[in-house]
Amino acid sequence: MNNIISNCPLCEEHSLHLIGQEDSQMMQCLNCGYTSTSKFIGKKETNEEYSKLTEDMKNWSKEFNGRIWIPTMLTLPIGMLYPFDDDNGDMKWRFAEMVDIPEEEQKNYPVPGDTEHYYKQRYDVDNAKEYDEFFEGMVELNSRLKEEANG
Ligand SMILES: [Zn+2]
Repeated sequence: MNNIISNCPLCEEHSLHLIGQEDSQMMQCLNCGYTSTSKFIGKKETNEEYSKLTEDMKNWSKEFNGRIWIPTMLTLPIGMLYPFDDDNGDMKWRFAEMVDIPEEEQKNYPVPGDTEHYYKQRYDVDNAKEYDEFFEGMVELNSRLKEEANG
């Protein structure tokens, strides 16, 4: 897999990772957290993928260089990094850790469409840490991944 790093058109940092080939290329900025794929080429008014986004995602997305850019949502086994609006309506980032659900509480977390199974873990969004910048959240995420790898 080729992985080229380029300048991000949004934040202008040299941290835009180009992953994959042209027709299915993904662009991911590890500084500002914006991402775009070949499906997001075009304008908001006419782009089909854009029309499928949630209202929040639509509000956060940006048009630039003939593409639509949306903020990254990372859902990993150790935690979730995701955007939110602060009290001033500015997009910030949160990192929610994956936590174990105590056995007696698991009945409160049914698996959708499945009456016999319950979630054993969840993202602890109530105690999420907040960051002004995406890369700060990535630093946290990476240190958690390292801890995990070291047992
Ligand atoms: Zn960027």
